[in-house]
Amino acid sequence: MAWFKKARKPIASATAEKPSRVPEGLWVKCPGCAQIIYNKDLETNLSVCPKCAHHFRIGAAERLRALFDDGEWTEHFPDLTSTDPLHFTDTKPYRDRLRSTIEKAGVKDAVLVATGKLDGLDVVVAAMEYSFIGGSMGVVVGEKITRAIEMAHDRRQPVIVVSCSGGARMMEGALSLMQMAKVSAALARLDRARLPFISVLTDPTTGGVTASFAMLGDLNIAEPKALIGFAGPRVIEQTIRQKLPEGFQRSEFLVEHGMLDLVLDRREMKGAIARALRFMRAERLPAEAGSHLKGADPGTHLRGAEGGSHLKAAETGRQSPLAVASGFRLQAEDPSR
Ligand SMILES: [Zn+2]
Repeated sequence: MAWFKKARKPIASATAEKPSRVPEGLWVKCPGCAQIIYNKDLETNLSVCPKCAHHFRIGAAERLRALFDDGEWTEHFPDLTSTDPLHFTDTKPYRDRLRSTIEKAGVKDAVLVATGKLDGLDVVVAAMEYSFIGGSMGVVVGEKITRAIEMAHDRRQPVIVVSCSGGARMMEGALSLMQMAKVSAALARLDRARLPFISVLTDPTTGGVTASFAMLGDLNIAEPKALIGFAGPRVIEQTIRQKLPEGFQRSEFLVEHGMLDLVLDRREMKGAIARALRFMRAERLPAEAGSHLKGADPGTHLRGAEGGSHLKAAETGRQSPLAVASGFRLQAEDPSR
């Protein structure tokens, strides 16, 4: 028997930490002001930092929840999926990438189409999902948005598209580029039927999405500090060999330079859209349906003197459409934010 027995504890390894009593993901650090925010608070605030109004990126479902009354909506065309027409492979086969993304994201492609009430008005909303291959627009996204517009056309309801996208989906090549023309053509028909389209651009909206439907709204509204552009700033700088100005491709810069109509805080978005739609007489659309259907050729509206967009009608009355749809505040005019 030994004289003494040393009950030796094994050397504690540096990595073995005490289990934290705070569950993962309860708090988030704001990238804007470094404030630590309680997740639930952030959620109730539509994922906008209560301190510095930094807009966190949100998913399509959360977006629909923020827009529809009581967070209730009916989803349409949820089962459309890409068939990988080119049998494309980059770092891994596109088919595998699709499968794993569908599992992870819980949606079958990068857009949700829904109908419901927005402040009592019947609307069709398409919201893009950035977590699905960068919100890229492939055949399915193009088809779903086109169907959403056609559905609105048939039901005589306004359309709202919330863009959040890196552009066309390169794994579908030219087929994804064709979606730009398809969606734009559907929007032209919507315009001829004199139905409003509101485009909401969120961070980021780039590439083929900016170059087609995102910029075709009767009203183009962006969220604060959203990156909106066609090519990325680095590519442009290399091409033109010039330094780009401060804030280039951010929503505030684009409003100043006439590319967008408004920059709006996410918390004011729903109310502003409802006001704009009422200004465009959205609640009277079904009543007007009869008279329109009787009209011989909807195309005459484009050629006729009164033609074109809903906003132009107001402009002839020498009123700024933005002022009429009032309550709108430009971000730049509000020093408190
Ligand atoms: Zn913040």
